Amino acid sequence: MTSTNLRGKTALVTGSTSGIGLGIARCLAAEGANIVFNGFGDAKEIEQLQADVAKEFGIQTAYHGADMSKPAEIEAMMKFIDEKFGGTDVLINNAGIQHVANVDEFPVEKWDAIIAINLTSAFHTSRLALPGMKKKNWGRIINIASAHGLVGSAGKSAYVAAKHGIVGLTKVSALETATTGVTVNAICPGFVLTPLVQKQVDARAEKDGLSNEQAKHALLADKQPSGDFVTPEELGGLAVFLCSDAAKQVRGVAWNVDGGWVAQ
Ligand code: NAD
Repeated sequence: MTSTNLRGKTALVTGSTSGIGLGIARCLAAEGANIVFNGFGDAKEIEQLQADVAKEFGIQTAYHGADMSKPAEIEAMMKFIDEKFGGTDVLINNAGIQHVANVDEFPVEKWDAIIAINLTSAFHTSRLALPGMKKKNWGRIINIASAHGLVGSAGKSAYVAAKHGIVGLTKVSALETATTGVTVNAICPGFVLTPLVQKQVDARAEKDGLSNEQAKHALLADKQPSGDFVTPEELGGLAVFLCSDAAKQVRGVAWNVDGGWVAQ
């Protein structure tokens, strides 16, 4: 029987003050999970977000502002969740950044930041959440990779390396937990119209002298056969399924939700 009742469980969604993370957090909250938000933003707006989501779904929310490039801050956040909620039951490793430049022009500090935030942070959250999950014999880790975890694109070396890396981390973590009630999977989105992608739309508009709408179409036409953006809610729907009992034998997959991008 399929059950996605997450009431009483606690979900940490890294990078959930915006975009995909926020969409997934809302979908998990709708299933009853308490939500720990993380990410940057205006303190007042984040406070309001916490209050709104708690009220809308009748759950508890919390926020920890750990910078996901800093292992000591990640440790402090995981400890905070252990103390406040008795552990992280659902871990969504979502925080991420992008920078576009060819390898021979790629700023070294951008490379280091992308690897730290998009890849290494998931190692730290996973290593710190897994002991508690194993003890309870239940847990779900969902790594937000990308179509770029499966194929490359010019100009995105650090991002593609980090996303291929997180697919690898997903497989190994899934094997190490295969006989337990803990599952580990990755979701690989195509283009989703979030601030991260709007920057690429803006760059395309400027480079080719296009309007915002034309630049969006051009970006999609290059990669995404459906011609439509994926939405955070669609990704949240898959995350909810991966948390369900029906998905308990889904282990170590890197599931693309990409309008056909990697089918080409
Ligand atoms: P976004 O810019 O809307 O959100 C990113 C979130 O991460 C924000 O909450 C931000 O505050 C947080 N963040 C950034 N750096 C951080 C740090 N050092 N510490 C803590 N939080 C930090 O981006 P998005 O498009 O929603 O991306 C979310 C994830 O989805 C990323 O891992 C991204 O690579 C992945 N993804 C996005 C797309 C897309 O098309 N938008 C496609 C595939 C994968």
